[in-house]
Amino acid sequence: MMIRFIALFFLLFLGATAAHAGNAWSKISDPLAGRPQAIGFYSAGCIAGAIALPLVGDGYQVMRTSRHRYYGHPLLIRFIEQQGRQASAGGGRLLIGDLAQPRGGPMSNGHRSHQSGLDVDVWFLQQSRDRVLSKADTERVNMLSMVRATQGELNRSRWLPRYRDALKFATQSPLVERIFVNAIIKQALCESEIDRGWLHKLRPWWGHDAHFHVRLACPPDSAQCKPQRPIPPGDGCNADLANWVRDIAQAARSPKPYRKPSPPSADRLPAMCNAVLNNLTAFTP
Ligand SMILES: [Zn+2]
Repeated sequence: MMIRFIALFFLLFLGATAAHAGNAWSKISDPLAGRPQAIGFYSAGCIAGAIALPLVGDGYQVMRTSRHRYYGHPLLIRFIEQQGRQASAGGGRLLIGDLAQPRGGPMSNGHRSHQSGLDVDVWFLQQSRDRVLSKADTERVNMLSMVRATQGELNRSRWLPRYRDALKFATQSPLVERIFVNAIIKQALCESEIDRGWLHKLRPWWGHDAHFHVRLACPPDSAQCKPQRPIPPGDGCNADLANWVRDIAQAARSPKPYRKPSPPSADRLPAMCNAVLNNLTAFTP
């Protein structure tokens, strides 16, 4: 009994520490000024010299602005603006989800990655080019899933060619290292695309059925950025993908009770992130 009690106390203590660590990064309101630099790994890192994505631009609008997660490396900002212009040319307006906090780092909820200013979530659902949502609507409008998960199928009554075009355009940026999408969406594209070369960068994952998650490669100005292991060669339309789809469909048919994931810990961050968090002027790596 006593041991259980001590273990519980220890868990609560650890949980509180982790949450606190995440919050320190979440409470920072401004980027660290200076030369842009992505530091560490996508799921254990931070960013110096981040800039804010303007909340509305040509062909895009930032959603859930109250979260204050619209900061990134200047290359990420430029990439999103480029995507917006492409959507706008096709009559659409992209809805942009989370980028990173002003100095990156772990978030108190929602993501494990998005820590180094190189990740962005882009909704599949688009608005028309001429429509800008009110502030209240950017908080309220629901993300819309594009799959019928229990059947392991794309929801064709919702899916539009322009969503495929946005995905394809994103893969074609040389800045983009990979894009996470729900395996069911990738599978559907494997079946419908004649030229499957561009599917290489699409990585199957859980969730990501209402948005896709774009990850940029480490920028040349960021010596402390830790790259991810390269994607295996090929278009990825293979047995592994079929297994992903099967697992996702199976999980949707017998859902397990939801367990709130613990916030990511700040303990694994590179030491340099401490200087970024604490505004140390000595930060001149
Ligand atoms: Zn994401």
